[in-house]
Amino acid sequence: MAAKLVYGGQIWTSLARLSYSWSTLLALLIGGRWPRAEAGRAAYLWDTVPVARGDGRLTHDLLPGEKGPQDACGVFGVWAPGEDVAKLAYFGLYALQHRGQESAGIATGDGHKVLVYKDMGLVSQVFNESALQSMTGHVAIGHCRYSTTGGSTWENAQPTLGGTDTTTVALAHNGNLINSAELRELIAARHGELDRHPGEIGRGNTTDTALVTALLSDPDRSLEAVALDVLPRLRGAFCFVFMDEHTLYAARDPHGIRPLALGRLDRGWVVASETAALQTVGAAVIREIEPGELVVIDEDGLRSHHFATPEPKGCVFEYVYLARPDAVINQRVVHEARVAMGARLAVEHPVAADLVIGVPDSGVPAAVGYAQGSGIPYGQGFVKNAYVGRTFIQPSQTLRQLGIRLKLNPLAHTIKGKRLVVVDDSIVRGNTQRAQVRMLREAGAAEVHVRISSPPVHWPCFYGIDFATRAELIATGLGVEEIRASIGADSLGYISLEGMIEATEQSGDRLCTACFTGRYPVELPEDGRIGKHLFEPLPIDLSHSARDVDPAPLVDGSGPGDEARLRIGGIRVDVEGVSYGVDGGAQNALLHP
Ligand code: SF4
Repeated sequence: MAAKLVYGGQIWTSLARLSYSWSTLLALLIGGRWPRAEAGRAAYLWDTVPVARGDGRLTHDLLPGEKGPQDACGVFGVWAPGEDVAKLAYFGLYALQHRGQESAGIATGDGHKVLVYKDMGLVSQVFNESALQSMTGHVAIGHCRYSTTGGSTWENAQPTLGGTDTTTVALAHNGNLINSAELRELIAARHGELDRHPGEIGRGNTTDTALVTALLSDPDRSLEAVALDVLPRLRGAFCFVFMDEHTLYAARDPHGIRPLALGRLDRGWVVASETAALQTVGAAVIREIEPGELVVIDEDGLRSHHFATPEPKGCVFEYVYLARPDAVINQRVVHEARVAMGARLAVEHPVAADLVIGVPDSGVPAAVGYAQGSGIPYGQGFVKNAYVGRTFIQPSQTLRQLGIRLKLNPLAHTIKGKRLVVVDDSIVRGNTQRAQVRMLREAGAAEVHVRISSPPVHWPCFYGIDFATRAELIATGLGVEEIRASIGADSLGYISLEGMIEATEQSGDRLCTACFTGRYPVELPEDGRIGKHLFEPLPIDLSHSARDVDPAPLVDGSGPGDEARLRIGGIRVDVEGVSYGVDGGAQNALLHP
């Protein structure tokens, strides 16, 4: 009997490419559609009424020209016989929603089969009660995505699915690999044409996660043995949770760039990107998955393997912005780190003022710290719409012009006539801060002094955080005084690199600070072999001859050591030795020169 992998009709309907045997019966259901009878019968999918599907984009579109740093993803895994593992995964993902809002998915395993359900949108939009009730078993993994390698499409949503005739693999990934091109070549050498690959790659998945899923699908060895062979070949940032029909696996890259924590339930184990997600499902936090560690959990208990020598380089930006304030990373409570950053800012950049306000959400703890450090009272100056980004209705042009007001509104009676210190976590393009300053002045602020709890962002991240391109970063080519003038503030102060690191209570040599310093802890590949759309057709027409494209530098080169060039033949941008592919950075730079 042939395996059945059931898709919504608009994506794929052909089963001809599948190589799974009937013993790995899989149902993959999308589009808010669910069969009224048993899974695996496509006919039932057509009978249901399609519902509106989110595209996950509105958060970025609310404020034209501005997009803050975007998290890579959140991952969750649970092994707990007797528990409702699908619902544990659902609420775990709910606690991690801030890490990725483009798509969500859960896989469950019951010892016989693996079922994956995924779709575009927020966790609460993708799943409903009946969907979760249909997902039974003792092991589950979950994923909420922000795209880094591979565009934001249904095909690229996770968990990904792979396997062999005897074992199914479902995989969820937080982070970003930098040797994806090399891995793809390795798979091509083994399997031939990749568009005929029997797994996710052949079905149009263009992510690094699909490559790893393919590598883990080895018929000759156990999944545990294959993982110990594959994991050391990967470069970059990865926190994986993966599973087969029986077993939960969790692995973290040797640099531990992204966080991954282990928790204990009364009847099982849980892993999650952040400790808060463990606590959300009632698990006791045990420890972090160590850099270079693979943890395997099944009926025999928990086994730990170290597949590489640890060289810790945790992402400092997790402390600044990315993680929830109630997360604990390497024994440091993120909220306390942010308060300490604010206190340090007060020392480094004091100013005479009447009130300190924070930009919700991640600027608030630093504002509290600034108030404590300076003795200036803290107050609430903004009200945030807590549900912004929770709709997929596109704003009209009139609403777009209101821009940031769809997200934040100033408390005019609090700030009128006051000299304000406004604390935020970072400046990317500067458009947000410019709009905030203007809004505060319109609300009656006498002075607006902006303080930032991270240093200027000069470099893109290749380890799972989507910043603007180098050409779009306001700190590229502009000094602090020029940025101050650009955003219209009365004064501007960034915390020093040393001050930020000290606030994390981590040793500086155990942190990644590349987006501030340009010192990338994992060597980057050359020749444009990196980028978000590395394995995708370009959405812009690059079939120009050289004379069709303005060969002027995309970056003005006025920054120290800057040397930016657009290469027409190779279509590549080189900045201080860092190469951006025709996609990702260069592509965006081409679109927004
Ligand atoms: S480059 Fe920045 S955001 Fe990326 S991992 Fe390093 S510190 Fe974190």
